[in-house]
Amino acid sequence: MVEYLGTADLAAFSCHHGPDLITEFGGTATVTGGYLDACAGAGAEVHPAAHARAEPGPAVGADAYRELEERLLAQLRAAGDCDVVLLDLHGAGVVVPDRSMDVAVLQAVRALLPRAVLAVTMDLHANVPPALLDLADVVTGFHEYPHTDAADRSRLAGELAFAAARGAVTPVLAQHRLPMLLPPSPTVAGSPAAELRDLVREIEARPGVLACTVFHGFPYADTEQAAASVVTVTDGDHALAEKCGAEVATWLTVHRERFRTAPLTPEQALHEALAGAPGTVVIGDGSDNPGCGGAGDSTYLLRALLQVPEPTCFATVWDPETVAAAVRAGVGATLPVRLGGRHDWASGPPVEAEGTVRALTDGVIVQTAMRRGKRADFGTSARITVGTCDVIVASQRRQVLDPEILLLHGCVPERYRIVAVKSVNHFRAGFAGVSDRMLVADAPGPTARTIEQIPRTGPTRLLWPMSARTATR
Ligand SMILES: [Zn+2]
Repeated sequence: MVEYLGTADLAAFSCHHGPDLITEFGGTATVTGGYLDACAGAGAEVHPAAHARAEPGPAVGADAYRELEERLLAQLRAAGDCDVVLLDLHGAGVVVPDRSMDVAVLQAVRALLPRAVLAVTMDLHANVPPALLDLADVVTGFHEYPHTDAADRSRLAGELAFAAARGAVTPVLAQHRLPMLLPPSPTVAGSPAAELRDLVREIEARPGVLACTVFHGFPYADTEQAAASVVTVTDGDHALAEKCGAEVATWLTVHRERFRTAPLTPEQALHEALAGAPGTVVIGDGSDNPGCGGAGDSTYLLRALLQVPEPTCFATVWDPETVAAAVRAGVGATLPVRLGGRHDWASGPPVEAEGTVRALTDGVIVQTAMRRGKRADFGTSARITVGTCDVIVASQRRQVLDPEILLLHGCVPERYRIVAVKSVNHFRAGFAGVSDRMLVADAPGPTARTIEQIPRTGPTRLLWPMSARTATR
């Protein structure tokens, strides 16, 4: 069994430093890509420092964090006395046992550069600890879910930071933390999340408001930092920042019940898919999304999909052992395979079947929707056909954001009746060109959309909707 629980060590991170960082992120639809655009727009001399990213999962080990922080500080020391530091922080990182990684990074940078303007761009799912606002000068986050506006939002943060550094604006921040965590709520047309996004966009257009972001919070972290919040940045007007943030907080309190989701079992999702018009239906395996911390090897939806007597595709199952067996057997070989189910109850029992190896790849793609232009590495991967289903098995845990990992293996999404992906909502951006029929299946799992059903012993059990678990509605 390959473990992913425990603590995240250095090997869990993909790291880029110095010029390599620009090669990796320049021109991409990522936070760092947007920062590089803002630097170019300001004519700034850029010192690319460090970028480290791990797929969501366990807390980060203290030794690993210390090493990453030291690498960042070493780069900043070498850069000299910077006016502006642009930070790409997700906003739910935890250093063992329960320290906010985002606050830790800011404390370290602030101690080194007490006079620099520090700008932070965070994920829509960020948990924003109040201490973060004492350390940062500018805070923005994404409006969209799927996060297709990451570069736009970081470019804004960078532009505000450069404006502040030259004295053109005086950013002041206000935060409104709410005693709630939102279930995964995409900003698709007609949804309450889209209404909420439109409200904060309208607020951002008001005179004196520099940025206003509503953070849904990261509902799979049971930590003190976890909560939804609103962060408003105005040009020197504390009262305006407070007023705008309070308006969003009130809206969210009034409308929160509309954010609850009606779950579909895998069987129900497949039935709904097959009952509709012909064409491809894309189904997210929402309760095992590696992007939320799921293992990526749950078999509940896969097992149900294998019963469908039509062409189907499943991307991806995280299973390095089965990939290794496929590599040993070679393309064209038919062999008994064991797929997924290696991580306790959440993964379900493994699927045991006879499969044919149809393709072997290095698993490296360039993303085309969210994080457009940025590479993603699924590790050595195999297309294994079981009955009428093409299963793509990967040796790295990764969320599937777009069709590229299918295409790499010769799987054209439009040729399947159903494509199932390890993702809860981000796939909606990447697969929009394949099908507008998209569903989410809710199998048992640690990243369930019905977040109130996840067992919790920590502080988040007191937040809505967990606190209202037994309430009638
Ligand atoms: Zn997110």
